[in-house]
Amino acid sequence: MQKTRSSSRREFLAVTSTVLAATVPSLAAEEPTIGQVIERIIGQCAGKPLAQTVDTLKTGDPSWKVKGISTTFMATREVIEKTVQRGFNFIITHEPTFWNHTDDTSWLAQNPVYLSKRRLAEDNKIAIWRCHDYWHTLKPDPVVAGLAKALGWEKYMDPEGRGICTIPPASLQELAAHFKEKLGLQAVPAVGRKDLACRRVALIVGASPGRPQINLLSRPDIDALVVGDINEWEGCEFARDAVQAGMGKGFLVLGHAPSEDPGMKYLAEWLSPQLPGVPIVHIPANSPFHFFL
Ligand SMILES: [Zn+2]
Repeated sequence: MQKTRSSSRREFLAVTSTVLAATVPSLAAEEPTIGQVIERIIGQCAGKPLAQTVDTLKTGDPSWKVKGISTTFMATREVIEKTVQRGFNFIITHEPTFWNHTDDTSWLAQNPVYLSKRRLAEDNKIAIWRCHDYWHTLKPDPVVAGLAKALGWEKYMDPEGRGICTIPPASLQELAAHFKEKLGLQAVPAVGRKDLACRRVALIVGASPGRPQINLLSRPDIDALVVGDINEWEGCEFARDAVQAGMGKGFLVLGHAPSEDPGMKYLAEWLSPQLPGVPIVHIPANSPFHFFL
């Protein structure tokens, strides 16, 4: 939890949202099952189950009736506890629950942190389903769209929706301040001159390898690249060499969670009109870090 904001301020009742109207009939049942909700999301994203996917049920049972849904970037202990406090029983998380991509738990059988987290979910009858691959299949990518919306940048984004924005001119330092304010960040690591003039800014959410980051920042029309997760020896080191070569480039790091939590807020807004009678909220996981400044 970051101390600069109250998480409750950023939680919101998606039930009241008018952002996205459902284009398909809503589920008639007041209390659909976990399995019905999952099938519905799959049906509208990929159309049919993917042959290979990490989007599986991590805890709980598909036959349970849904009492309420929390969407989040990461089903942290705090998110599970807040879900229990609301009387909900279903968490839709973007990233793994047990700290590896496939949620393989065979190596954790004796691990006290794993055992404690699983017990917290199971004792409170919380179902956790990952929605990563399916959500990213939609075009334009709703995780990129969610971030652009959180920044107030929807109107600046190129029409193909890949996260390249033409913004009113701003310095790199002003850009960082905008991200801090809109995403509630304590700090934004940066490479580049603080007075660098930025007009064409590329957003990459989540974790991406170095090459796409480097290829984007190399484009002559891109002034600054804003990423979620990094390998510190790849994209940001390329940016450092570019700056030291005298090129006008900027590179900002948001962190994985702050870059993708808005996309899971967007999922709550998208799903809510389709499940009348089912309360749905977004509970941000927030960055795992605090900073000793
Ligand atoms: Zn993602």
